[in-house]
Amino acid sequence: MTAKSAAAAVRATVYGYPRQGQGRELKKAIEGYWKGRVTAAALQDTAAELRRANWRQLADTGVHEVPTGDFSYYDHVLDTTVMVGAIPQRHRAAVEADALDGYFAMARGTQDVAPLEMTKWFDTNYHYLVPELGPNTVFAADTAKQVAELKEALALSLTARPVVVGPVTYLLLAKPAPGAPADFEPLTLLDRLLPVYAEVLADLRAAGAEWVQLDEPVLVQDRTRAELDAAARVYRDLGALTDRPRLLVASYFGRLGEALPVLAQAPVEGLALDFTAAGAANLDDLAAVGGLPGKRLIAGVVDGRNIWINDLSKSLSTLGTLLGLADRVDVAASCSLLHVPLDASVERDIDPQIRRWLAFARQKTAEIVTLAKGLAQGTDAITGELSANRADLASRASSPITHDPAVRSRAAAVTEADTRRSQPYAERTAAQRGHLGLPLLPTTTIGSFPQTAELRTARADLRAGRIDTTGYEERIKAEIAEVISFQEKAGLDVLVHGEPERNDMVQYFAEQLTGYLATQHGWVQSYGTRYVRPPVLAGDITRPEPMTVRWTTYAQSLTSRPVKGMLTGPVTMLAWSFVRDDQPLADTARQVALALRDEVNDLEAGGTSVIQVDEPALRETLPLRAADHAAYLAWATEAFRLTTSGVRPDTQIHTHMCYAEFGDIVQAIDDLDADVISLEAARSRMQVARELAAHGYPREAGPGIYDIHSPRVPGTVEAAELLRTGLKAIPAERLWVNPDCGLKTRGWPETRAALENLVAAARTIRAEL
Ligand code: GLN
Ligand code: ZN
Repeated sequence: MTAKSAAAAVRATVYGYPRQGQGRELKKAIEGYWKGRVTAAALQDTAAELRRANWRQLADTGVHEVPTGDFSYYDHVLDTTVMVGAIPQRHRAAVEADALDGYFAMARGTQDVAPLEMTKWFDTNYHYLVPELGPNTVFAADTAKQVAELKEALALSLTARPVVVGPVTYLLLAKPAPGAPADFEPLTLLDRLLPVYAEVLADLRAAGAEWVQLDEPVLVQDRTRAELDAAARVYRDLGALTDRPRLLVASYFGRLGEALPVLAQAPVEGLALDFTAAGAANLDDLAAVGGLPGKRLIAGVVDGRNIWINDLSKSLSTLGTLLGLADRVDVAASCSLLHVPLDASVERDIDPQIRRWLAFARQKTAEIVTLAKGLAQGTDAITGELSANRADLASRASSPITHDPAVRSRAAAVTEADTRRSQPYAERTAAQRGHLGLPLLPTTTIGSFPQTAELRTARADLRAGRIDTTGYEERIKAEIAEVISFQEKAGLDVLVHGEPERNDMVQYFAEQLTGYLATQHGWVQSYGTRYVRPPVLAGDITRPEPMTVRWTTYAQSLTSRPVKGMLTGPVTMLAWSFVRDDQPLADTARQVALALRDEVNDLEAGGTSVIQVDEPALRETLPLRAADHAAYLAWATEAFRLTTSGVRPDTQIHTHMCYAEFGDIVQAIDDLDADVISLEAARSRMQVARELAAHGYPREAGPGIYDIHSPRVPGTVEAAELLRTGLKAIPAERLWVNPDCGLKTRGWPETRAALENLVAAARTIRAEL
């Protein structure tokens, strides 16, 4: 086929779309169903209506081929578990009694049965439910959901392409089932799984699918030869089936690397590749393997994970190059649009000039359609779009918001010395001990205390104008006074103000920093019915005034014990926001770090001797490929040190991490040069303490002894036992006593009881030393 006739057939498509609806109707219907206020039939109707609305919206924008099967009541990996019949033993009865309730039991657990484990979907903030597989797993195809959703779309006379999690990805994301050997490799189940996929493909073909998309994002990660061979076998076997639709193997979140030749040689009809910055190397790699003769290529040129408008001319040039490398080239976003909010045009609070720089799912869809048209008909067909796009890009590039000379020259002037404290840890720790006068095994908490209904009401009252700022601040102060008085009575050594003024640990700071935008409706699914609104790092970052000093010094004025200042670190600020794509992440991190450094220094000047800078996201932002780890960790740890190294040696810097295994980044944790780290550790019975010790970690550490994810109150004996376990790894001179994480999601009664027990446990162990 010549380039010209290849171009004539260009289709616009996407791999998935936000599920929730503009008013988060899906969340409301599902949570209503859980509470018994919405019937199953009403929930199903809401879901079907949302799917139809999404498809119509896509088709009306000009998308030629819509995805089906990407919708989910909770999570698409859990849907795949249902599709292949891998229901864990403990959930079978519930699933057999009622499929929908059984589904939610797997997702959320019940009074008697634990849910599936939840973990992050690659390096996004979406969480999936981890399949549990073992030597006894028996698969059985259940194609009902995929077939029904395909038929719904076909009934609207649309061209529809079912999207299914591929078998290699499904198995590699699984973990050994309870009772299976710990070293059980789910990939060994491939032979049993493939017949199920064959059935899925046959059923989808019978239902009218011309193409089926099999998602294999695990192939953009480092894979062993055996895993690549398994992928080769899967697609050789599925390709050899006679009763099947055409197969499109989709990759996203980066470059395929050594998996590209494997898929290029496989007897499938199409591949989807990421050509955004993350997958840029795919372009050269594709040329190096001789392109994809005879295959369809779906080019993910519009960034599906970030919210900036596309550079249409640049994408067209990429697409033009690709035309010569495949039989047919179609246009898409780099991944499912699940990871971006629905519609930027409803953000009325964002300056219209800046809003033009933003593209959420709806706007991205329009970009994809424009690019497909430009590729098929030539740039003359899209001159209006191109010139508007050029104007918006130029306005962003030249805006004073994105280029503040003062911020830039300050960032450029940062030296290595600015990222180092004036004395090494060993000398500082002695100075801090003298200064703070703490006992052995000092007790503290991670920052937040229960966010009560009264606090949320106060915030709502302020927003609605029912109370003024003074009235609001009075309520916050009253809360701080109560939190301080409780901690004194409970006998904690290093107190906190409790963070009552914070709506969220990132948004609170984003709202006060210039260059950072908050959205009103920019909801993105984090897991199940939990949605978050990540703020947008849009411009150069400055701190017009101190952000936390008032509250911390007020708290300190109420007590003679040290009150710990509390900030969110630069890496976590980036990880839980949409980041700039017009400069390296390291540059954005440095700007945020400089703003936070001023806050740290102001806290110290205001009389704060202990300052905690939280970095729970340090591990989760680690790049997918090992080759990229060192560069990331270098800028990430530097940003933390830049934030924290402007203080006196006797000021104690804490950090905190949770939600992940940290065993493989102990060196990076050490490179933060913090004086004290608190870590989530209770559930793993101090595993992380052993990992720190194994690495020779030299600093003070507080592995958590209270699992704050559950309302359960740990007893004193149990807490003391965990401390004894901790002491086997970390000597008493360096061991701190604290919960796993902040207490904002807990109620007051259990918080009181648990912290009293925690202090009692510390006293018990001190008496034994
Ligand atoms: N200081 C924060 C709190 O206590 C830390 C939260 C977190 O680690 N996610 O809530
Ligand atoms: Zn935490």
